[in-house]
Amino acid sequence: MRVLVAGAKGRMGTVVSVGVERASDLELVARVDLGDDLAALLASAKPDVAIEFTTPETVFFNSRAILEAGAHCVVGTTGLTQEQRTELDTLAREKGCGCLVAPNFSVGAVLMMRFAAEAARYMPWAEVVERHHERKLDAPSGTARLTAELIAAARSEAPAPEHEEETAPGARGGRVDEVPVHSLRLPGSVAHQDVWFGAPGETLVLRHDVIDREAFVPGVLLAVRRIGEHKGLLVGLENLL
Ligand code: NAP
Repeated sequence: MRVLVAGAKGRMGTVVSVGVERASDLELVARVDLGDDLAALLASAKPDVAIEFTTPETVFFNSRAILEAGAHCVVGTTGLTQEQRTELDTLAREKGCGCLVAPNFSVGAVLMMRFAAEAARYMPWAEVVERHHERKLDAPSGTARLTAELIAAARSEAPAPEHEEETAPGARGGRVDEVPVHSLRLPGSVAHQDVWFGAPGETLVLRHDVIDREAFVPGVLLAVRRIGEHKGLLVGLENLL
């Protein structure tokens, strides 16, 4: 299977490129970075699958170019809007290609989100605290956003304090589907998330820590191998597990 990596010199692109090179059934046919002509490289390298780990500003245009070239697409970059996802879904179907958008490729994070949805059915008071390295461009993280969406979909009510006054703006975090989400940006962090659930007299905390980007590689390679079995857009690695 021929594989192109977009954002190959980045933090994620670097570890993913090594992972592709180490896999005996995959061939890394092109590395693309800022300033390279993606369309030309897609035409010359003819990848079966392209992996996208660039920036929130670039991801939509790159993913569109990849699908237009007839390659399947595995997207790790966060920041795609719902409208952009819909457009990519339509394009992928037209081209007979699969496109996976996964805010988190680590198996532990996928499980954390599944357990959070389960807990929310019984403990609807929930808040998400995510922590990433200080160079992360977007907040909240795509994982925090998806976790909040899953909690909101799973619980029957959205409880919150009746009276809330922020004497420091933002003290109560942002809201995703009425779930408070708090984003920490600190050196010494990779990707971490705690999901807090409260009920009278008890607290449940689900914690997931990525301490090395190696954690994402098996999920990315699984997606590369399996995305060709699908047509259109899939959101979340759990669709392929
Ligand atoms: P990063 O280190 O900044 O890497 C991004 C790379 O993309 C850089 O090498 C950058 O080049 C390059 N780039 C910028 N514009 C480009 C373009 N038009 N075409 C091709 N390459 C371009 O970021 P990262 O930490 O690897 O993270 C990348 C994305 O993945 C972020 O959105 C992050 O949130 C996400 N992420 C997802 C997961 C997951 O499991 N889904 C895990 C970790 C991170 P320059 O440096 O020259 O600008």
